[in-house]
Amino acid sequence: MSRRSLGLNDAIYDYLVEYGVREIEVMRRLRERTDALPMAEMRSSLEQVNFLQLLLKATGARRVVEVGVFTGYATLGFALALPEDGIVHALDISHEWPSIGRAFWEEADVARRIDLRIAPASESLRALMDEGLVGLVDFVFIDADKTGYAAYYEAALELLHPGGLIAADNVLWSGRVIDPAADDADTVAIREFNAMLRDDTRIDLTMLPLGDGLTLARKR
Ligand code: CA
Repeated sequence: MSRRSLGLNDAIYDYLVEYGVREIEVMRRLRERTDALPMAEMRSSLEQVNFLQLLLKATGARRVVEVGVFTGYATLGFALALPEDGIVHALDISHEWPSIGRAFWEEADVARRIDLRIAPASESLRALMDEGLVGLVDFVFIDADKTGYAAYYEAALELLHPGGLIAADNVLWSGRVIDPAADDADTVAIREFNAMLRDDTRIDLTMLPLGDGLTLARKR
């Protein structure tokens, strides 16, 4: 629920963006278009997408699954970071928000690398498995309904090859994970997700204070 990293004051955040982040002009315009929406808080942060782009390039990722597209800002970043034959399977339940991104994907000339699927994410993940992608996915980004995270994570572990990566956003949930008064379903789900991953021996794990908290998990 944060468009920028937690805990940085405006001045140091501006400095980070000025010196530490690269964003092509089409991405900037999609970001600004998204920020005009009432639900703009759902947009992935600039620095987080930038980090994940570098991670995709560093690991030579070709096949990405994105669970939760919103307006497709991160989707665009991922597609730009992939090689020519790469693909982002972009899963969302809304027709409305991803349709905003599509024009920008086309303008950036990467729409052919984006396989947008509108359905409940659990169904789309099952479809990817049925299509034979088990063990063939390099990277899964989980940034959708928080009560679905645990199920998406299990599906991600099936789809990934050993050494593949999962990134899960909003794991610090604007700090509500440590607020004893916060007992809504989303907050409880994030806490349970974090506890589950901490103790999961199937993965290597690190939680970064990037954006709203980003967990990276590497399938062993
Ligand atoms: Ca998010």
